[in-house]
Amino acid sequence: MDKNLIEEIRRSNDIVDVVQEYVPLKKVGTNWRGICPFHNDTHPSLYVSQPKQIFKCFACGKAGNVFTFVQEYEKMSFYEAVKKLAQRAGIVIPEKERISPASTKRSQLLRIYTETRDFFTNQLMKQKEVLSYLQNRAISPETAKTLELGYAPEGEKILLNYLLDKGYSVDLLKDSGLFGNYSGNLVDFFRNRLMFPIHNSIGEVVAFGGRILEENENVGKYVNTPGTELYTKGKELYGFFKTKYEISKIGYALICEGYFDFLRLYENGFQNAVASLGTSLTEDQIYLLARYTNKVYMLYDGDAAGIKSAQRAALLCLSKGLDASIIELPEKDDPDSFLLENGPEALQERIAAAKDVIHFMAEAKSKTPLMERIDQLLDTVRSIKDPIKRELIVKDISEAFNVSTRSLFSKLHRTSVVETEGLYSTPALEEYPEERQLLILALKDPDNFNLLAQDLSPDYFNNKRYKELFKYLVNNASANMISEPAQLLDLMENQELRGLVGDFLFEEMQDLDFMSVLEQVKIRKIQRDLRDIDRRIMAEPENKTLLKEKSKLVALYRQMTSKVVHKDLT
Ligand SMILES: [Zn+2]
Repeated sequence: MDKNLIEEIRRSNDIVDVVQEYVPLKKVGTNWRGICPFHNDTHPSLYVSQPKQIFKCFACGKAGNVFTFVQEYEKMSFYEAVKKLAQRAGIVIPEKERISPASTKRSQLLRIYTETRDFFTNQLMKQKEVLSYLQNRAISPETAKTLELGYAPEGEKILLNYLLDKGYSVDLLKDSGLFGNYSGNLVDFFRNRLMFPIHNSIGEVVAFGGRILEENENVGKYVNTPGTELYTKGKELYGFFKTKYEISKIGYALICEGYFDFLRLYENGFQNAVASLGTSLTEDQIYLLARYTNKVYMLYDGDAAGIKSAQRAALLCLSKGLDASIIELPEKDDPDSFLLENGPEALQERIAAAKDVIHFMAEAKSKTPLMERIDQLLDTVRSIKDPIKRELIVKDISEAFNVSTRSLFSKLHRTSVVETEGLYSTPALEEYPEERQLLILALKDPDNFNLLAQDLSPDYFNNKRYKELFKYLVNNASANMISEPAQLLDLMENQELRGLVGDFLFEEMQDLDFMSVLEQVKIRKIQRDLRDIDRRIMAEPENKTLLKEKSKLVALYRQMTSKVVHKDLT
């Protein structure tokens, strides 16, 4: 693809804007910071530099530019990411530049799911019976449309034939999770059900949930697509693609359990809700939420079972460092019925009265003995990595249960294995810091880079990774790319090197002079060569050539070190 076109597409897609469509960022100094989507975390380790148009995660090491971010996040090829961002910026890729890459299985499955969603939503419009079911449950047509509700018709092969007609292969359909297999024959998995598309956080349909329309003891009320290449159970949150920005804006999320709870909340103006999709809240779901907020409210059924799962979910959130509260509903209610009967203001009051999980557990009229509840909380504290957060929570427990922090800490330490060790361990000291400094300075300035490429060869680098990076740069980079660091990262397929470059580009080193660091690296090389030749002379004391070589090196070493000293004096 034409380089100028790629440049135009890059310039039209500011990395901060694009990343923010996936992860909210906050400005910190000259950089932007957020929670990395490439590893599980609730701390902001992802840095994005607007002037350099690059990102880097200092926890997992992922780094790159706007194309690689989209590529990694959406598991696409480089070309697909370029195409997607061209579309985002309204840039038309000329016919001759279009490559039709062998599309991945993932992207084929995504197409199938989009077509199936359209098929189901069309079916819904044709079915009076289903429309009146929604009306009876007081779900407005607008909500049904926004959340793309649909209907899977009765019949064994209606969807199957529809997709076969569209040209999809049987093999692909087999792996789509949309069909059951009866003795070698594919049949529609969802039949006569109200269909809820499940979207991933960027709004692609990756699965479905289906609900029966008439109660029937012989079939499950809800069924979901099984795990596929697109969908892992417990990884997505229902409705999140619609509510994530509002969650980040309002500053907290309401977590409910069911589809209808979510729809009701959404209709009543609570556009910061998500549903955990019929499973109990998972760690993955918490990490997903944590990118947008660190405060969550559990809004579960009012009965004992509901309270129990709300408490379990809230503790899990707490253990990941989130503030978690529990909203109490009357025993007979779920969020859906509560809102229908009492309206949004009543729920607003319940939210305001919600207790954080620690106070909730201290004051609960439950049969669980107090000691056991404290133990449950201490177990949670143990999994919190941040020592300050730990201490704050222990203080909360002490206050809520009216026990001293001293006894809480002594119990905490007595029963906990030292597991934080290693987390904060400092990296091993570098043998030659100047090799690192040299590369950082060369990446900052095209003139430096040219000098580096001219003056040195790979054997000047003692550190293996730096040597690799040097080789890569000399073979693949140009001074031009150094002034546009994002360009440099385009085709760097080696993840480790990309991480290293990202690392270097974020480092500020104003006080160091390139030329003197370059001298240092050269001197180190001579020192290594001298040590090496001494070893060889020990083995062959009579070898004249070696001795000659050594004296040459010594002279060179003297000359260089005197130059450096001299320079330092002036
Ligand atoms: Zn990361």
